[in-house]
Amino acid sequence: MNYYVMTLFPDMISQGVGTSITGRAMEKGIISLHTVNIRDFAGNRYGKVDDYPYGGGAGMVMQAEPVYGAYEAVSAMAGKRPRLVYLTPQGRVFNQKMAQEMAQESDLAFLCGHYEGIDERVLEAIVTDFVSIGDYVLTGGELPAMVMIDAIARMVPGVLSNEQSGVSESFSDGLLEYPQYSRPENWRGRQVPSVLLSGHHGNVEKWRREQSILRTAKYRPDLLKNAELTEKEKNWLRMQTQ
Ligand code: SAM
Repeated sequence: MNYYVMTLFPDMISQGVGTSITGRAMEKGIISLHTVNIRDFAGNRYGKVDDYPYGGGAGMVMQAEPVYGAYEAVSAMAGKRPRLVYLTPQGRVFNQKMAQEMAQESDLAFLCGHYEGIDERVLEAIVTDFVSIGDYVLTGGELPAMVMIDAIARMVPGVLSNEQSGVSESFSDGLLEYPQYSRPENWRGRQVPSVLLSGHHGNVEKWRREQSILRTAKYRPDLLKNAELTEKEKNWLRMQTQ
């Protein structure tokens, strides 16, 4: 999968994505990362890409033409006009389902805003997806782009090894994941649940499923309405929470 990131801070992106699991996926050629510095398309010798907002108000706005030039450069690299995500607090809130869906793309581009945002006209012209990473405002789109790249890359075949499989993780079946434990069996007086030491695969699976349901009910009850629970599990949960 090929990622393209249009940004004023390309080093931030390449250092972040080039680290750990995504960095190894880049080395193996499973994903590629191309950063494009929007400043290179400033059209003036100062590299200035922002100006005052029409109508007045606080802050500066990134101008349309440098952003458009950067997307033309991305399109030339990709050999097509790739799907383009603009990171914005006004967009649809990112989730695991969107990560899975976007992981099907061969090419995916991201546009990182700064200051008060970007001239609306270029967004209308080139953006296909407006995506937020949550209901708070950050200084720029670089961290949100890295969050999305990371979550999407984990869904690309070959990025995670078998041991790191994303199949049974939180949100994969609409529930949070069960609690995890590793050695030692007794840590400062806290014992690993005995079922996990029993070697009985069926009991372990049952316990994990129950823990997932309990955990979701406790921390994210909003997820339960869309989770697939059997009637037996719904009754069991009701008994636990009475
Ligand atoms: N004035 C804008 C507004 O009120 O919607 C906020 C601009 S913000 C200070 C600057 C840039 O950071 C945005 O253009 C966007 O690229 C990025 N950004 C900030 N918060 C974000 C969020 N929650 N999700 C995605 N991108 C965000």
